[in-house]
Amino acid sequence: MPTRSRPKHVPQRTCVVCRTTDAKRRLTRLVRTTEAGVQMDPTGKRAGRGAYLCDNPACWQQAIKGEVLNKALRTTLSEADRAHIAAAAPPLAGEGASIDEQRQDKPER
Ligand SMILES: [Zn+2]
Repeated sequence: MPTRSRPKHVPQRTCVVCRTTDAKRRLTRLVRTTEAGVQMDPTGKRAGRGAYLCDNPACWQQAIKGEVLNKALRTTLSEADRAHIAAAAPPLAGEGASIDEQRQDKPER
């Protein structure tokens, strides 16, 4: 048998931060709109220049703080854009900061 034929139409997405290419892993599309700045695009169908981020919170943090989205979207993120993206970012897991807060708080004990 020849090498397994590739599945025909599996769109590959690349995280703009870590360059992970994966069709299965959940990548979120961000799209630059003219009227409302950078928006999340869960449908992946909005018109405009888009960039993908994988579900790794570290990539989102880097995208929010760094320049990578400016380059990928050929724009300059405004403070509002960065805040908007931060609000949609997956939460950082196991980083300890929030756990420390909870410890100090000791709710209902
Ligand atoms: Zn990534």
